Amino acid sequence: MILSQFSILLFLSFQVSNKDDRFFETITPVDFSHVRITDNFWSPRLKSHVTTTLPVCIDQIEYKTGRIRNFENAAKGTGKHSGIYFDDSDVYKALEGIAYSLINNPNPELEKKADEWIDKIASAQQPDGYINTFYTLTGLDKRWTNMDKHEMYCAGHMIEAAIAYYKATGKRKLLDVSIKMVEHMMSIFGPGKRHWVPGHEEIELALVKLYRLSNNKKYLDFAYWLLEERGHGYGSKGDEGVWNPVYYQDDKPIRTMTEVKGHSVRAMYLFCAMADVAALKQDTGYVAALDRVWDDVVLRKMYITGGIGSSRHNEGFTEPYDLPNYDAYCETCASVGMVFWNSRMFQLTGNAKYIDILERSMFNGALAGISLKGDLFFYVNPLASYGDHHRQEWYGTACCPSQISRFLPSIGNYIYGTSENAIWVNLFIGNTVEINEDDNKVVIQQVTDYPWEGRVTLKMESLSRPLKKEIRLRIPAWCKHYEILVNGEKHENYPIEMGYVVIGKKWREGDEISFLMDMPVEIVEADPRVKENIGKRAIQRGPLVYCIEEVDNPEFDDLVLSSDSKFSSSFNDSLLNGITVIEAVTNNQTIKLIPYYAWDNREQGQMKVWLNYRE
Ligand SMILES: [Zn+2]
Repeated sequence: MILSQFSILLFLSFQVSNKDDRFFETITPVDFSHVRITDNFWSPRLKSHVTTTLPVCIDQIEYKTGRIRNFENAAKGTGKHSGIYFDDSDVYKALEGIAYSLINNPNPELEKKADEWIDKIASAQQPDGYINTFYTLTGLDKRWTNMDKHEMYCAGHMIEAAIAYYKATGKRKLLDVSIKMVEHMMSIFGPGKRHWVPGHEEIELALVKLYRLSNNKKYLDFAYWLLEERGHGYGSKGDEGVWNPVYYQDDKPIRTMTEVKGHSVRAMYLFCAMADVAALKQDTGYVAALDRVWDDVVLRKMYITGGIGSSRHNEGFTEPYDLPNYDAYCETCASVGMVFWNSRMFQLTGNAKYIDILERSMFNGALAGISLKGDLFFYVNPLASYGDHHRQEWYGTACCPSQISRFLPSIGNYIYGTSENAIWVNLFIGNTVEINEDDNKVVIQQVTDYPWEGRVTLKMESLSRPLKKEIRLRIPAWCKHYEILVNGEKHENYPIEMGYVVIGKKWREGDEISFLMDMPVEIVEADPRVKENIGKRAIQRGPLVYCIEEVDNPEFDDLVLSSDSKFSSSFNDSLLNGITVIEAVTNNQTIKLIPYYAWDNREQGQMKVWLNYRE
């Protein structure tokens, strides 16, 4: 049994320091359109995404709520706006999810639905390019008067959906609508024009995507300008007539940030945009700021599940080490945001520590956001429950269901990266990937039962010709013992750089790497400054954080782990779609633990991650 400390100690003890970071390392993620996921863990989720999650989102957006009707009304210029002023964004995010799904699983029916929505969206665009159903139906004279009304936020999600749909189908109707909206915004705001600070970041990262698609530098420059607007007092008063700059990350110029503050999803989207722009503009000030806030988030303000934003009051960050369990907010969108941001930090640096956090947020905080069937969603993800917190079909503010609907079908984005000298293997998910290297078509097959087992095989399935490149294989921070075999031969002396084993050779068809990670049960201790977790321990195995549910543990309130506890783990394929169950036996007491992501999928009852512990 391995004892480890969580938070500061867990992370720093296994990670190399930043001083080795090669900032502006340009690693390109391998797009998920080249990745076919074939494993037993994620494939069923991708299937239920198409058969269940997307239909649920479509049903809610079009029939159970008025989100599509808002566009129909805006096109006619009559009728009421229903719902909340940012509801257009859910339509765009669901469209983005449909587009990603179409890329690997063509589906004429879904495509027809998307085309239908896009026609309605396009009809709602004003002659000057403006598009937002809330202001169109409540008074266009009031548009662009309140930073808090998410006009640019909605536009950003439209751009992301438009790019996704264009890539999936080649159809550019929504892309043209988006470009017209961007031109409208750029005609009003920018150098020598009006100042503006979007109250909810998102447009900035979307503009970078538009730049990457179009190669038109003005979109990148506009994103940079919007980022630089922050922290100079240009933000207008928000909803209650109160200007709360900290909440919007508008309290100081972003390159001077030293800590993470305010609304957590806003912060994640801001950091994504900063990382994108830093890479493209070689802005070392942004990189230094991101480095500082990353430490602040990960070492002081993140839960063991990778969840962030502990407070319900601001849906965001508070003081360091203020990480309550029952009251943890941990919005699903914020965990997905951690995946987006850490992926970009990896591309910027080549440091595995970012993928460690990405994996933690993905397998725990984000995955808990959706039920095993794919039909119910968490907005809030506490680490303990009295039995009264459950996933719902939908929410008035439905950012989380639509977020999950676009995140799941694109998880293939996070498995591989390529750079001049290397192919980077970040995540362990069974798949076949096709990478084109200077006209050399490289097909690699990854076989694994991760996260249940630590055995991973990478096989050079086919190559047009031998390939001289490093394979950089991530050693997860949780993994302390592993073996690597290349073509059956054990090697001990491969160099390790920033969390990656570097295997350099001339690769030929049929070459095989076997990566064998020990995956013991670990007892995790929180940083002692997290008051709620004093005298408690959590259980983790591989990338998965575990919890206990009352349904498995009738003595729920009396259970105590101790230094004498004996652990065993076994796979149970009939429980919760197949999970590895951990049992902890102490004296005559047995504690049964299940992965945190799988909780609240059976009968209602209490749950907790942090268990009482006796030395
Ligand atoms: Zn959300």
